[in-house]
Amino acid sequence: MKEIWHNALAGIRARVTVENFNTYFRPLRLVVIAGDAVELEVDDEFFRDWVREHYQTLLDEAVTEAAGRPMHVDVRVSERRKANALATIDVEADPEPAVDVPIDDATVPAAPETGDFAAFPLNPAYSFDTFVVGPANEMAHAAALAVAQDPARTFNPLFVYGGTGLGKTHLLHAIARSLRATHPELRIAYVSAEEFTNQVIKNIQRQSMDAFRERYRTRCDVLLMDDVHVLAGKERTQEEFFYTFNALHTAQKQIVLTSDKTPQEIPQLEERLRSRFQWGLITDIKAPQFETRVAILQSKAERDGIELPDAVAFYLAKLVRANVRELEGALIRLSAYAGFRGRALTVEFAQEALRDLVENRARALSIDSILKLVAEHFDVKVSDLRGARRHRAISQPRSVAMYLCRKHTQSSYPAIGKGFGGKDHSTVISACRKVKGALETDHTLRTEIEAIERKLPG
Ligand code: ADP
Ligand code: MG
Repeated sequence: MKEIWHNALAGIRARVTVENFNTYFRPLRLVVIAGDAVELEVDDEFFRDWVREHYQTLLDEAVTEAAGRPMHVDVRVSERRKANALATIDVEADPEPAVDVPIDDATVPAAPETGDFAAFPLNPAYSFDTFVVGPANEMAHAAALAVAQDPARTFNPLFVYGGTGLGKTHLLHAIARSLRATHPELRIAYVSAEEFTNQVIKNIQRQSMDAFRERYRTRCDVLLMDDVHVLAGKERTQEEFFYTFNALHTAQKQIVLTSDKTPQEIPQLEERLRSRFQWGLITDIKAPQFETRVAILQSKAERDGIELPDAVAFYLAKLVRANVRELEGALIRLSAYAGFRGRALTVEFAQEALRDLVENRARALSIDSILKLVAEHFDVKVSDLRGARRHRAISQPRSVAMYLCRKHTQSSYPAIGKGFGGKDHSTVISACRKVKGALETDHTLRTEIEAIERKLPG
């Protein structure tokens, strides 16, 4: 059984750089092979998501090849580690790796096991060096750099917002990495708002809130919190975070926050937190322009030892516009495919290999998906948007949804009308006109629509 995984690893080793192999594949531990599933374990969610996002196809193909029959890989977080990561004081021995592939210590993400923050894993690919700067992200990049060079002296807090996959987490890790090198004495806490929330819950249950508070408020010099929009509606966690924020800010400790929305747009956020989020600098990251996307692809290809012809880079950069993670994913998938099939990376091959990506995206940007996003954003029901009620609380979101369908899908006015519960095309036309007109003068509406557009896929 283990043989399959060993052979798969050998196959992978031939197809990725040594650096990537050591970083991403060595730490994977084999749990069990059951039927057509190879179950692997990693230490944290971050690592799991990274492997899934970037190497799922490669893993599946490698185990299939090694086994000589269709197999797939299932990467999950070790239960023991999961519990451990949430606890603040538990100490446990390292679990034995299931396969005796020697593990380079530096590449194993360690869970925090004491009251301090020293050991959280930094993604080796997320540094300032690897961050490609363009007009859409130069503000955020410059601010992050300033904070890393001079913590708590420039912008405090630094609040970076933007759509998914545009480099927010990358910048947070880059700050941490740079600070570790230049200010090794600083105690840095990197935590996602979701993990912070879990920790609050856990520590309430264990009645260990005092230790939790002490850890964040007095044993932390830099707090990097990812995805603070997740705090929406979580009152108890917001309260905890409010006091943490105050304690750190008063003590002149640097705080950096990321979010997929501006502070004003985060729903159900206490006013006192909202206002604190605005104390320092708020800066956005937008989707990179074509030239930056090409540069990102070229830099990624160079790091991973992929021979990427310009024509293929242009093709990919035109295909994937709104999400750098997807852009990189497409490149990695493409080069893995080409490696396995022994084919050259050409535009024709890219078109063939990425066909389902193209089709998925067409499907993802449907009238239905826009209806869902708009309903979520305005907190109304999709059925109301499709219905006939004329109350303003419903009719305005409905008009916005129609406008977005017209702008972002290929659908005709009659087709949109049909998607909205069989409305006449003239209704759709007048809704679109109304929204377009209002956009000229209504600033609130414009920011709302921009916020929704940031969530559109592709
Ligand atoms: P977010 O946290 O905003 O959702 P991430 O920071 O996870 O996005 O970035 C997604 C992927 O895109 C990562 O692999 C990251 O390294 C890459 N990426 C994003 N922006 C850039 C950039 N400007 N240069 C290089 N890589 C980038
Ligand atoms: Mg992120």
